[in-house]
Amino acid sequence: MSEHKLGSEMRPLRVAIIGSGPSGFYAAGALQNAEIKASIDMYDRLPTPFGLVRGGVAPDHQKIKNVTRKYEKIASDSCFRFFGNVCLGQDVQVCDLQAHYDHIIYAVGNESDRKMGVEGENLQGVFSATEFVGWYNGHPDFRDRKFNLSEASRVAVVGNGNVAMDVARVIARAPSELASTDIAAHALSELTASAVKEVLLLGRRGPAQAAFSPSEIKEIGNLESADLVIPEDIMNLDDVTTNWLENYASRDALKNVAYLKQKATEGEGNNERKITCHFLASPTSFEGENGRVTAIKLVANELYADERGTPRPRATETTWLEPVDLVFKAIGYRGVEIPGVPYHKEWGTIPNIDGRVTEYENEKTIPGQYVVGWAKRGPTGLIGTNKADSESTVRAMLEDISGQTVDASDTKSPEAALKMLQNYGIDVVTLDDWHRLDQDEIQRGESVGKIREKYTCIDEMMAAIRRLRN
Ligand code: NAP
Repeated sequence: MSEHKLGSEMRPLRVAIIGSGPSGFYAAGALQNAEIKASIDMYDRLPTPFGLVRGGVAPDHQKIKNVTRKYEKIASDSCFRFFGNVCLGQDVQVCDLQAHYDHIIYAVGNESDRKMGVEGENLQGVFSATEFVGWYNGHPDFRDRKFNLSEASRVAVVGNGNVAMDVARVIARAPSELASTDIAAHALSELTASAVKEVLLLGRRGPAQAAFSPSEIKEIGNLESADLVIPEDIMNLDDVTTNWLENYASRDALKNVAYLKQKATEGEGNNERKITCHFLASPTSFEGENGRVTAIKLVANELYADERGTPRPRATETTWLEPVDLVFKAIGYRGVEIPGVPYHKEWGTIPNIDGRVTEYENEKTIPGQYVVGWAKRGPTGLIGTNKADSESTVRAMLEDISGQTVDASDTKSPEAALKMLQNYGIDVVTLDDWHRLDQDEIQRGESVGKIREKYTCIDEMMAAIRRLRN
């Protein structure tokens, strides 16, 4: 019986990538650049590709979205197919994929959010940043959220990372500056009617430990529509921080402190709208009336150095209430469990060793299953961070197939995989379908002076795709 080398022209490595965000595309690109032949099918549960670049990157950060041009180039390879509108765990199962592919790469990101675990977290008006970001970006999962910004005067954003910056900035920015972007139409109209006068930015540690990038806090500081207000006592850094800044801090931390100190000298400014930073403050509960949030109870923290010298927050006895109409928790994303795929219950990731998926219980590697991106390492890093991370998982895949051969009678093929999806009655969105929808969205945008008017509902996307096919 004849055999073919796995990854050869005669028998390309058949790979299913689940998820079409940055980490999935970087994995596809790494396979294309490898010295093997791979035939790649990229699946997404949505009809549209690009994951967080479409559904997460803020509409006023269009330059970042240009990275999709690189992904389109990867997608244009003749051995690459996009299969949108196919949900793993619902429309197809892991065993279906195993029948048609040698390797599965999970590039599913983190679709949910961390919980704070404090009282009142379920009150109306307390949202995760995930919901708000998805809503303004027209993600179908979140298009129906109601934030009632027109009835809110004071909102709190919990967290000091770049997602908190995005949320605060989009709320504080003049809607006219968002009007020509690809922001969802429903979000633009709600933001235009917004009555928000103050955004409280709550960091549980000090200004030196804030997770935001220097460029992101500066962008907020430069907004024309709002003033960034920094407490004057920022000048008096505690001893733990001073020591940490001198010995351990990153360049970003030093830049942030220098910027915030300078900003603190500028006072409150003349804008009606303020973004007020509160450092060393943790929510201990959300207070409400008639089921709706009305205030946050905060505790003042002090910092102590842990065994590695890292400043950590510790609650003091000082507490106070801040009246608020809305809360956005921007304290980090978290992966969701997919039926049939191992799940790390504590971390919300897919358990793995160097990208090779393992059982959760016993860390035993599962052959043929790999993971990249936030699903692999948790919700950290910028879009570009995923490139090296995906390349390292692909290196593990290549090591694993080294010297492997496949019987020539093996039935895994691109045709058989497509046939399986058709047999299940799935209306698969192809790359051509996406390109037609893409052009349609751009044309819809042109007619209203925007760079794109997104479809925000899967049924509408599919109806448009079916219309455009004819
Ligand atoms: P992040 O950078 O990890 O920030 C999370 C923030 O939440 C930190 O300030 C953290 O404080 C705080 N936090 C965590 N648990 C908390 C709790 N129980 N109570 C109060 N505060 C709590 O996460 P992210 O903002 O979600 O961003 C995720 C990744 O995407 C990051 O790498 C980010 O840089 C990236 N991103 C980049 C951009 C951009 O470049 N424009 C935009 C969005 C996101 P501690 O530091 O004390 O833990």
